[in-house]
Amino acid sequence: MIVEVCINYQDANVDRTFDYLVPGHLEELVEVGKRVYVNFGVSNRVVEGLIINVKEDTNVEREKLKCVLAVIDKIPIVSDEQIKLAFSIKNYYATKLGQALGLIIPPFVSNNEIYIICAQQTSDLTLEDELKEIYNRILKRPVSANSKLAKENEDKIASLFLRGLLRFELKLLKSLNEEKRETPTEPQYKLTKDQKKALELITSTFDKGIYKNILLFGVTGSGKTEVYIQAMRYVISKGKSVILMVPEISLTPQMIQNVKRRIESEVVVYHSKMNSSQRQRAWLKLKSGEAKVVIGPRSAIFAPAKELGLIIVDEEHETSYKSEKSPRVNAVEVAQMRAKINSIPIVLGSATPTVEHYYYAIAGKYAICTLRERINKALPEVFVVDMKKEILDGNKSIFSRLLLSEIEKNLQRGEQVLLFLNRRGYSPIVICRECGYVYMCKNCSISLTYHKDGYLRCHYCNYKQEYTSICPKCGSKYVRQYGSGTQRIEDEIKTYFKDARVLRMDKDTTTRKDAVEEILSKFKSKEADILVGTQMVAKGLHFPDLTLVGVINADTILNMPDFRSKERTFQLITQVAGRAGREKQGRVVIQTFNPDDYSIVAASNHDYESFFEEEIKIRKTMGYPPYSYIVNFIVVSQNEGFAKKGIENVYRLLEKCTKIVNLKIYGPSESPIFKVENQYRYHILVKFEKASQMIDIANMIKERYNYNNAELIIDVNPINT
Ligand code: ADP
Ligand code: ZN
Ligand code: ZN
Repeated sequence: MIVEVCINYQDANVDRTFDYLVPGHLEELVEVGKRVYVNFGVSNRVVEGLIINVKEDTNVEREKLKCVLAVIDKIPIVSDEQIKLAFSIKNYYATKLGQALGLIIPPFVSNNEIYIICAQQTSDLTLEDELKEIYNRILKRPVSANSKLAKENEDKIASLFLRGLLRFELKLLKSLNEEKRETPTEPQYKLTKDQKKALELITSTFDKGIYKNILLFGVTGSGKTEVYIQAMRYVISKGKSVILMVPEISLTPQMIQNVKRRIESEVVVYHSKMNSSQRQRAWLKLKSGEAKVVIGPRSAIFAPAKELGLIIVDEEHETSYKSEKSPRVNAVEVAQMRAKINSIPIVLGSATPTVEHYYYAIAGKYAICTLRERINKALPEVFVVDMKKEILDGNKSIFSRLLLSEIEKNLQRGEQVLLFLNRRGYSPIVICRECGYVYMCKNCSISLTYHKDGYLRCHYCNYKQEYTSICPKCGSKYVRQYGSGTQRIEDEIKTYFKDARVLRMDKDTTTRKDAVEEILSKFKSKEADILVGTQMVAKGLHFPDLTLVGVINADTILNMPDFRSKERTFQLITQVAGRAGREKQGRVVIQTFNPDDYSIVAASNHDYESFFEEEIKIRKTMGYPPYSYIVNFIVVSQNEGFAKKGIENVYRLLEKCTKIVNLKIYGPSESPIFKVENQYRYHILVKFEKASQMIDIANMIKERYNYNNAELIIDVNPINT
């Protein structure tokens, strides 16, 4: 028997594995996902490794093959299924194996915090006295791998391990459960016809035991959550577990409460901001099967859910599922890989599905179910205001006359208002009117944003400097702030409505823990009339008395140089608009300089289909996804010349590929933001016709790129190009 072992699996740069022979007496013990001790290198150091495959044969010559020395774990630290997932990630995103494993194995698992050391009973034992003493102590009572005893006797314990006398076991606390669970409540209402159909589709797919994407396309407030919950209950009743992914954990307290109240099994939350002991608890509960539901953002897709039966992705279109740090995985794609490995359904829920997913649905590749109507109320009435006309009519305010009069009416009725602008700070640009100098970050090619506290800040690297109204270039006093951020909206709206109580929710007001919940609960209990906010307020919120939503500037995303800018605009407007009138009739005012743009027109009509029809035509003509597969190759260095040289290397490698496959190369060029945190970035965008070709070539470039002066980042299916 042979095992394939990954040495130093905690190291992100590790990409190779090695074969080892399993001696007869260990054959029973080896298993994928367990750690082993092996000899490594010419000096035959004893090192720890992770078994990633068990097989019969190897290409290594027999006499060169080394033996496994000892098996460390009694229970695999990662499941077979999770290891398969690591390989899918490595392959699809062209990452190193260590990077992929790093996503799946949380740090506490590899640094021993959750293990106890147990001794094996054996009959014929000849041990030196000092080893014998330790052995007998552990035999009598297992010790924590973190204990003083274990740490002070590391050498002795290691040699007992090598003789096969000790083993790690996961520390499964007697009862992990401290809070009593209430009996789950039943809903007080009957499912609508559409909801029933959706539920049946999900449960019957689950029963078949097949991998299938199910797009749950339901307008905001159409009862998607109820479908999720009932589907989860079904899957759990069959003994399986569920991963429910949400875009942002702090914005979903309502949903988590709902799920907890309705599910038989324990529900755990899992995300990277939890402290180590919270995360350990959640990890152990899932691994032991005590908890059958895990809710969380991106990282929850890697949770050790036992016997996974269903994955649900709420708001599947959200960009927060994509990691902007290496490895640049998209949790929705990873969820699809994991569902495929387990032969289970994956539900993608959204009121504004991604163009790609909707395309697959109508092409028959994904199943689709639609929730057509809002449960309680009609969708809000939407007004689009042409800001060009406002200016021509002499209104120089940030607020249109319509928005102001609607706010006024709302306040008189005692109802609430949400004002949305996806820009924080006071003014995004500060310019010298004399010489045209724009205040820039010294680390990034990004203009500094003026904040009310008198500082200029970079929203990329957090650099700040004190604001002086004298131009650093020409000394002129004519320095002006242009444009508005949420701070300015908050200030100016107060000048129009002096008695209104205004709250602001953006990154600046929510740095403190619990700040989000505090602001939301204040607004909910009507301690404020107007809530001003960035993207943070666009998702999932439900306030009965919120009947007016104002979109201050619908064009901020529209003008971005990205092929998804229309899709983003449509999604964002539809989502914010969906916050209005969830229980009473609501209204939405959209301010824009592009009132005729199809993304804005369609959003104002709540008309996903016509948006999709326009958008898909353009995608086809331009050869964008879903008609192509895109990889962004980015080369980064502190030294501009090195970065340039690196990208030229990538270009030469790509050029060779044009002879074998059909691909389109755009670049090399400077990245849209050339310098970030003092790192220069060049990139090449490549379009492929087939996913398989994209994967092959991305991996080939990863293997062949060997210019050490500049780092190569491979971004597969980038969301910001
Ligand atoms: P979505 O997730 O699609 O935005 P929600 O799940 O928040 O919508 O549902 C909106 C509201 O409708 C919630 O308050 C929910 O409790 C309620 N609801 C869901 N299904 C039904 C139903 N079949 N009958 C009555 N009310 C329902
Ligand atoms: Zn910066
Ligand atoms: Zn100047």
